[in-house]
Amino acid sequence: MKRTRHIKCLHPYIFSLPNDLVLEILARVAASSFTDILNAKLSCKFLNEIANNDYIYQQVSLEKVPVIPWWPNKQTSSFLDRCKKSGNVEALYRQGVIEYLSACNLESGLMYLRMATNSGHLGASYVLGVVLLCNNDDDEEGINFLNIVHNNVQGFEECRQQLQEVTTCLWFNNYLVPKPNNCLMQNEHLKKQRGWPTDNENVIQCEACRCHREIKFVCSLCSHGEKFYNY
Ligand SMILES: [Zn+2]
Repeated sequence: MKRTRHIKCLHPYIFSLPNDLVLEILARVAASSFTDILNAKLSCKFLNEIANNDYIYQQVSLEKVPVIPWWPNKQTSSFLDRCKKSGNVEALYRQGVIEYLSACNLESGLMYLRMATNSGHLGASYVLGVVLLCNNDDDEEGINFLNIVHNNVQGFEECRQQLQEVTTCLWFNNYLVPKPNNCLMQNEHLKKQRGWPTDNENVIQCEACRCHREIKFVCSLCSHGEKFYNY
């Protein structure tokens, strides 16, 4: 309520700004808070009209938006559809995970994951890398996607947490099965691993073992257990 009043106080100044600048301001509001952009839209017709732009839907934060709405309705579906059509990377990532791991729409899932990956979503690179390594005969592309995560400062741990959060309320219907790790030195490379690593991401220098560790994590997540823990 306080924020809404504050926005109303700004109206005379906002009216004097070019629409492109107001749009940019609203996009930054949307990127930081779904609730704040909603309040801005509700505050007056002018802001509501400016905010009815694909750029806002591309930028809007979905942090407070449930992956699977508890009470799906036309308004929620319409909002999420527009986010996807506008290229909102988080919406594309979520849809890719849902389609591939839950709805078993594999082609559609891969398409959304690739779209999110191409837009720089690290979590999508992570899932896509694991999925390709489980299903493709040629490992090169999957390894490349996991190397993107490995070389990023956010690293694997954040991608694991992100996937866990997105899949918490998902019912898995597509179980991934890891291929055997062909590294002849895996006992040596993995000997210090107990449980899933947290702050020792760079301990495993071997690419094959590093990728296999992440494959096991995702496969175990999908199987709701430790089935592949000691694979
Ligand atoms: Zn190895």
